[in-house]
Amino acid sequence: MDNEVHQAFETLAIHAGQEPDPATGAVVPPIYQVSTYKQDGIGGLRGGYEYSRSANPTRTALEVCLAEIEGGARGLAFASGLAAEDALLRTVCRPGDHVIIPGDAYGGTYRLFAKVAAPWGVEFDPVPLGDIAAVRAAVRPETRLIWVETPTNPLLGIADIAALAGIAREAGALLAVDNTFASPYLQQPLHLGADVVIHSTTKYVGGHSDVVGGALIAADAALGERLAFNQNAMGAVAGPFDAWLTLRGIKTLAVRMDRHCANAERIVEMLQRHPAVGQVLYPGLPDHPGHDVAAKQMKAFGGMVSFRMESEEAAVRVCERTKLFTLGESLGGVESLIEHPGRMTHASAAGSPLEVPADLVRLSVGIEDAGDLVRDLERALS
Ligand SMILES: *Cc1c(COP(=O)(O)O)cnc(C)c1O
Repeated sequence: MDNEVHQAFETLAIHAGQEPDPATGAVVPPIYQVSTYKQDGIGGLRGGYEYSRSANPTRTALEVCLAEIEGGARGLAFASGLAAEDALLRTVCRPGDHVIIPGDAYGGTYRLFAKVAAPWGVEFDPVPLGDIAAVRAAVRPETRLIWVETPTNPLLGIADIAALAGIAREAGALLAVDNTFASPYLQQPLHLGADVVIHSTTKYVGGHSDVVGGALIAADAALGERLAFNQNAMGAVAGPFDAWLTLRGIKTLAVRMDRHCANAERIVEMLQRHPAVGQVLYPGLPDHPGHDVAAKQMKAFGGMVSFRMESEEAAVRVCERTKLFTLGESLGGVESLIEHPGRMTHASAAGSPLEVPADLVRLSVGIEDAGDLVRDLERALS
């Protein structure tokens, strides 16, 4: 795609990395379901392809598109979000290094640090990232990486990406942002000073609950090259069909996110008025502690909503009584989901500093009719 003229997000999402196929004119990149490629004499590669762990044309199309929509130099697609996180961690950290992670990080990220990275010799500290002074105080000479999630899963905490990028720069550390909850349509961490963006593309980027995948997008080519070397050396790449599904999901990301956000606002309005509901956690609410930062760094406030009930039993009951909101883990798909983080997605954080409140309910608000969604929740709450 000719990018000399700057193109808008919506255009890049549909066209970046996706020139019509030169052989047939197919307007969508084919699924290159292939492991190896004929060489025209030893080393005579066509387009650089020799073996699909190293590179595959369908994955390349996705990787180019991801880099363009996040505004980075290099995009890399992995078999899952955690595979991407692991590749990043082992590329930039060595035993003896130190990492600052969010005080309410995604449970799987916490488990990766606590059960895999720590035994390997990488130390880490969970720090509330909304507290800039606390982050600055946690920095050590060995701090190699500040790991940000914003909004966080499931408490919807907000961190100031530009401010944290400043701290990372002063410390000689890298700033990594897990942009899964916002998606690149709502938030562009690389433009705010981050060095690398992480995605579970399983969620909003893929958007249809039909594929598990992950991505890293590096701001500069040198870091991108180191990550790409390890992507091949470690091997947890996205397969061609998974890459194709993810690329197909990205085409509608902008319109889906607009609807996710609008529907979430309608649900938040209802929850706030409902007598059975306690605190509603949504960065779009003016009394949310991260509201001003979110308003500054996000285009809108997203489709994830959490709320507290008066007891664990009440929270579990709501989760089991909705019909349209499907009881299930994961998030970011077109269909609405409801879950109890304490017993489901974040059960692995039980007993750790990252344990979540037992009365918490998390919603992934889908793109169905807002009225139908509101009525379903009201019925479950009554
Ligand atoms: C789901 C998720 C991950 C992990 O991604 P997988 O694709 O499940 O491996 C990482 N970060 C966040 C914020 C997530 O929601």
